[in-house]
Amino acid sequence: MSIERSTFWPYKDGEPGEFLYQRYGHPTGVEAERQLGELDGGHALLFSSGTGAATALVLTLLSSGDTVGLAEGGYFGTGVLFRELERWGLRVVEFDQTGAPPGGIDLIWLEAPSNPFLTMPDLESAAAHPARVVVDATAATPIHLRPLEHGADYVLHSATKYLGGHSDVMLGAVVCKREEDAERLEEFRTRSGIVAAPDPCALLLRGLETLELRVRRQTETATELAHRLEAHPAVQVVRYPAIGGLLSFDVAGAQEARHVETSLRVITNATSLGGVHSVLEARARWEGDRVPPGLLRLSVGIEPVDDLWADLTQALEIPGTFPTRE
Ligand code: PLP
Repeated sequence: MSIERSTFWPYKDGEPGEFLYQRYGHPTGVEAERQLGELDGGHALLFSSGTGAATALVLTLLSSGDTVGLAEGGYFGTGVLFRELERWGLRVVEFDQTGAPPGGIDLIWLEAPSNPFLTMPDLESAAAHPARVVVDATAATPIHLRPLEHGADYVLHSATKYLGGHSDVMLGAVVCKREEDAERLEEFRTRSGIVAAPDPCALLLRGLETLELRVRRQTETATELAHRLEAHPAVQVVRYPAIGGLLSFDVAGAQEARHVETSLRVITNATSLGGVHSVLEARARWEGDRVPPGLLRLSVGIEPVDDLWADLTQALEIPGTFPTRE
């Protein structure tokens, strides 16, 4: 795949052509947006990260004094971003996305499934609400869910995760139902400079080629691991909505969670998710008492399920909590 890295294109006969300056757009980005738009059934725009995409969307859609209704238990960083924007007059109320959104909000922000609580939003109730609806479908991916077909107005992706798929690209995307929304968002992107460079867009194109294969495999493995974890004596609760490669489970407390983290051999103890290699971490280190101290988030990769299970079982042999096996 050829990547055009030029930051400008010559005018022809004194007139700018389709591409003129990279911040306005470039061929690799346009092609990646075309392919992602097709996958989600809308008009896609790429940004420098998922958080950048969220920033652009909120600043485009809302004004000072407006209120966003945010799904509780969703990605921690989205709440952090919105609280940062409170200084500019954004108001935030959190609500349980498994039910109807509250009245008095100007934008509904859902997550499918939420990270790390893995709840699924009530899309029908959200679509019946007068406010516009954003669904962060980072963990579901378009392979499992196309929110625009369920009444959402915008889909948000941290393309850093499953869409890129190899943990080597940072990108975000918004897919709009309406073309005029995409045009407005594109204008804001050019003005704000929250743009996606050509190289990350090329890596996204590579990732999209294997998206379905990876996500189907990750879902199969996550389903099997969720079943096995449910039956494990050191595991108190497993959260898995039966789609995608993300799940979370609880061990007794912070000490037990640290034991699991530091005992892993195949699974990497790190943050992030959505790549071909499995990654696990205790979320309390970032989210504090918003999550149980023993909550472990597992992003399932494409390794053989039995290798992952062997790693988890040896790491779950927590001294003193249940009889250890030979
Ligand atoms: N949305 C979800 C559900 C996420 O998990 C993340 C990152 O973990 C983001 C958005 C933010 O994406 P990025 O890290 O690409 O800015």
